[in-house]
Amino acid sequence: MNADLLVVGSGFFGLTIAERAANELGLNVVVIDRRPHIGGNAFSEAEPETGIEVHRYGAHLFHTSNERVWEYVNRFTSFTGYVHRVYTRHDGEVFPMPINLGTINQFFRAAYGPEEARALIREQAGELAGTDPQNLNDKGIQLIGRPLYEAFIKHYTAKQWQTDPKDLPASVIARLPVRYTYDNRYFNDTHEGLPVDGYTAWLERMADNPRIEVRLDTDFFAGDHDFASKNVLGRLPIVYTGPVDRYFDYAEGALSWRTLDFEEEVLPVGDFQGTSVMNYPDEDVPFTRIHEFRHFHPERDYPTDKTVIMREFSRFAEPGDEPYYPVNTAEDRERLLAYRDLAHGERNVLFGGRLGTYKYLDMHMAIGSALSMFDNKIAPALRAGASFESGGVEA
Ligand code: FAD
Ligand code: UDP
Repeated sequence: MNADLLVVGSGFFGLTIAERAANELGLNVVVIDRRPHIGGNAFSEAEPETGIEVHRYGAHLFHTSNERVWEYVNRFTSFTGYVHRVYTRHDGEVFPMPINLGTINQFFRAAYGPEEARALIREQAGELAGTDPQNLNDKGIQLIGRPLYEAFIKHYTAKQWQTDPKDLPASVIARLPVRYTYDNRYFNDTHEGLPVDGYTAWLERMADNPRIEVRLDTDFFAGDHDFASKNVLGRLPIVYTGPVDRYFDYAEGALSWRTLDFEEEVLPVGDFQGTSVMNYPDEDVPFTRIHEFRHFHPERDYPTDKTVIMREFSRFAEPGDEPYYPVNTAEDRERLLAYRDLAHGERNVLFGGRLGTYKYLDMHMAIGSALSMFDNKIAPALRAGASFESGGVEA
């Protein structure tokens, strides 16, 4: 194919750019991915023995309050009415999560109303009242008091981050809501649901255009294929969604990531845990949570005598591991600034997506950020038949 634009990476960021460039500008776009499948981390497939859809890189729940993104994604898929709820198993008992009035009353064997519960938590958090906690441990105690913090947050966080919560920034926990109602929805967004025909059908529909060619098993930095970096850099506009440090050959040092190990099992029972996600916040259990995929699609006709579960373990990524979550130490942030400068100086290459910007992005954020990059940088430049003025990083 005679390409007008090369996209490196077929995740949601790369596919959104490719779809817009092909449909809106009529450009020929080649998308390459080093993996053997489309879709980046949102890829899913049927587990062969049961037919149950498994999200290969961990459970993916779509949710957004961004109307533009919602309208855009609905062009490629419709969504089920699935509403995400999480439960957590502490000390042989199951509680609703995030912490809400139900969790508080069950934990304290009480029947508090919202104001009584607030007063209790205020009292329990009193040891840190009026301070401005800088680490996750102190922030957690200030938000919910020590007993709830130690039951549900402390060890879960230590397992997930492999770091003492005293050494983690307070901001990590600020994401976790505490509700003084019985509302136990996990997300607060306006729109939520799972793609009716699965993630891979949605991702494939985005690339379903004769002007888009997807080449799998094709690494930008390896081999001598037509779209290898050495053959295209400086000759073709490129949107790069791989790791930013890899692009610059780790010149400023490697950015650190957490990775996950997934242990999948097919069990000879129709239902293992009665819900899609069960967290395990206790210290003596090595995994953080168990996903049971059948519960993401109660509307589907899955076998009633088998189920698929996946235990999730978290650890620091070594070279060769999949990078999942940016660790974001002070050293990482310094390196990232240096890489941003390098990226800005790179002619004809734009950096985007989770790996290209070293930012945790939910799917709707990756899609929203790609739509903005298309509007602000790609369409103005390529509509005029020019190239990108200089490189850049999408915020
Ligand atoms: P990716 O999906 O990572 O795609 C990047 C692609 O680039 C990959 O396919 C990779 O193979 C390819 N690539 C890299 N280097 C090269 C190279 N050298 N040559 C060729 N190709 C290359 N979001 C939600 O909204 N809800 C969720 O519940 C949710 N759960 C998540 C759970 C986990 C465990 C993780 C890790 C993420 C989760 N996300 C979730 C986030 C979601 O996965 C991302 O928002 C989305 O994948 C970002 O898309 P992307 O295109 O930026 O990156
Ligand atoms: N968290 C926790 N216990 C839980 C769930 C979450 O301590 O049962 C904390 C933990 O520190 C985690 C943060 O809240 O890193 C954000 O949780 P979220 O579920 O958003 O993490 P993700 O699903 O993105 O990994």
